[in-house]
Amino acid sequence: MITREELRHLAQVESAENSAVTFYFQPQTPQNKSHREEQIQVKDLVQDALRRAEKNGNNPSVRADLKRILELAEQLHGNHARGKAVFACSGKSIWREFDLPKRLKRTQLYVAHRFHLRPLAAVAASAPRCCVALIDRERARLFELWMGEVREQAEIVDPLPRVGRTDGFSGYDAGHNERHVENQAMRHFKNVAQRLHELHNARGCDSFIVGCREDLWPQIEPHLHTYVRQKMLGRFAIDPALATAEQVREQGWRILDEREASERQALVREVMGGAQRNGRGKVGLRGVLEALERGEVQTLLFGEAFYAPGSECSNCGHLDSNLVDTCPACGQRMRALEDVTDAILRRALDGNIAVVYIGPDPEFEKAGKIGALLRFRADQTKSGKIAG
Ligand SMILES: [Zn+2]
Repeated sequence: MITREELRHLAQVESAENSAVTFYFQPQTPQNKSHREEQIQVKDLVQDALRRAEKNGNNPSVRADLKRILELAEQLHGNHARGKAVFACSGKSIWREFDLPKRLKRTQLYVAHRFHLRPLAAVAASAPRCCVALIDRERARLFELWMGEVREQAEIVDPLPRVGRTDGFSGYDAGHNERHVENQAMRHFKNVAQRLHELHNARGCDSFIVGCREDLWPQIEPHLHTYVRQKMLGRFAIDPALATAEQVREQGWRILDEREASERQALVREVMGGAQRNGRGKVGLRGVLEALERGEVQTLLFGEAFYAPGSECSNCGHLDSNLVDTCPACGQRMRALEDVTDAILRRALDGNIAVVYIGPDPEFEKAGKIGALLRFRADQTKSGKIAG
């Protein structure tokens, strides 16, 4: 799977001959489109790209990569479960393939000066690692949810002693046995709680969801480690013994999606409010670029359809929302960019800035479809010091 490190590495690749080839494959659901149509679509994309590449002079690196992508697309036959991303630049001996969950918008192909990372970054950014624990009184099944997939990771079994109310000879024994069973169940819950905490430590699990019978939750909850409890995203009712992986996936994603949507909404409100109050928010391309250059940005917000031309200095890297020939920072030549998104993403990756994609939101769209939450504001820090 893709790490931030790999993303950053890809973001740094620069091809003077415009031979960085990016291919995203989004499998169609069968009722949408047949496999044959899918192949034709890829072929058309490749031929289009070839024509355009040849217009800019014969480029053997691009030709070789596009041919390989066409071959790859033919092999994707039957493999409809996953999407794919390919980054190729044979002139620089680069060929990287990633399997992706089916969360891309569509199949796309780009040949350019740099790789087109936005769809990949979008998928990776919205991919928290979540642990789903199905718990009953003697068994627990632990699943990992990541990048659209679910995997059963472990099972914990602490069998209860098989005693019923009828087993005891006297009332004393029956009560004793019941307590014994309760103690055993409690030990099991403790055991599960411990494993959840270990999962967070060892595997970087950053959130938790529990599936259990409603009446068991009050018995389970007190045993959970504080961290686990803080990172609980939600619960759902299920019979752990009968649950299928598909049910876990469905319930898990429903809870994750709800949580993410409400977090995104809160973030947008914070940024827009901050921008109005001259506080820790910026909206609009120009303001965001300035904040980026001052190193103020903590989190970048992209609207779904954000797209904007601009220019980039080939010397100092200054990004400008206007199409200018000369860099206002260093006086060197600026290069026009059809879309500044990838250049902004590169800054974000280099600067360890979180990137969040905002779904449809009329107010945010009116404000320019791009925004930033700031760690601080350089102007205010300075004036604060002078005043102090
Ligand atoms: Zn410059």
